[in-house]
Amino acid sequence: MAAARATTTLSVVIPMYNEEAALPALVARLRPALDGTNVSYEVVAVDDGSADRTAELLEEIRLGWSELRIVKLRRNSGHQAALTAGLHSSVGDYVASIDADLQDPPEKIPEMLELAQRDKLDIVYGVRSDRSTDSGFKRWTAGAYYWLMRRMVGKRVPSQAGDFRLLSREAVDALKSLPDQQQVYRLLVPWLGFPSGQVTYFREERVAGETKYPLSKMIRLAIDSITNFSATPLRIATWLGVLSFFGCFAMLAGTIGIYLAGHTVPGWTSLFVAMLFIGGIQLICVGLLGEYIGRIYTAVQKRPTFFIGYDSADAPQQRGAERAERVDVGV
Ligand code: UDP
Ligand code: MG
Repeated sequence: MAAARATTTLSVVIPMYNEEAALPALVARLRPALDGTNVSYEVVAVDDGSADRTAELLEEIRLGWSELRIVKLRRNSGHQAALTAGLHSSVGDYVASIDADLQDPPEKIPEMLELAQRDKLDIVYGVRSDRSTDSGFKRWTAGAYYWLMRRMVGKRVPSQAGDFRLLSREAVDALKSLPDQQQVYRLLVPWLGFPSGQVTYFREERVAGETKYPLSKMIRLAIDSITNFSATPLRIATWLGVLSFFGCFAMLAGTIGIYLAGHTVPGWTSLFVAMLFIGGIQLICVGLLGEYIGRIYTAVQKRPTFFIGYDSADAPQQRGAERAERVDVGV
């Protein structure tokens, strides 16, 4: 096993969550693209706790494609955690990551590798030249996301690069050494500061199945992205407090003025509005504090973000281990 691994040049990491519908089309395009290069490769399919037939299909495909390696997570851990599992398992000198739904063209991977080797780059981003196939809502939210990220992390963040990219072994090792818990690779990778290049591509429509990124996961990614890189929201809380202080001060002055002028005002509306407003601001601020404290808590716990239940590269031993575990659970 060690000898076979030592010669691997390229690893292709593919996180998969309920991708049974997209898998056949993916293999049909990925395999010729990789076989066409004269480098040895492994494809690390990370099954992120799929509930459908993804895992069985992968096993079937592996029978006829020895370069395919299956890393199965015990439960659904999320796209970024699945990527982490793939990066940690991969052994190639270069590691490409690509989605399973063919929105990113696998044919670009050899081009990325060539560019990296020719120009001695550690990172090659796949940058979308066009998002016309995405829904208007997705385009708008993605636009806002990248605008904000470039302001927070810096201009190094390519504005239309998702998780389709190629990394050198050095860059992967640097990522692996980070203690981050909720990794957001599209920000961490530019932040590393390695020499980088990019290839542009046309983002296609998902080949089959539904998106695995509902609004809730998109919001989660955005919150992780912001809080991983910036404490600005906490400062916003301070500024809101200052603003509301001055607002109340103005109201106080107004009230005294009205009192001195001899008007008696019922005052109910203004009091009620002020109470709601200040109450709202306080809740937002407490929520913000909670978000960061939650993060500190997670960091202190140091729990792994994923558990690998099975890796086809270590199949014989692992199966034994799994059996033993099942017996344990049964007792
Ligand atoms: N994915 C995953 N775990 C999840 C959600 C998504 O591994 O919990 C994978 C999914 O199978 C796909 C990639 O992440 O390969 C990107 O997801 P998707 O294409 O659904 O996102 P979108 O392109 O709609 O943003
Ligand atoms: Mg997709």
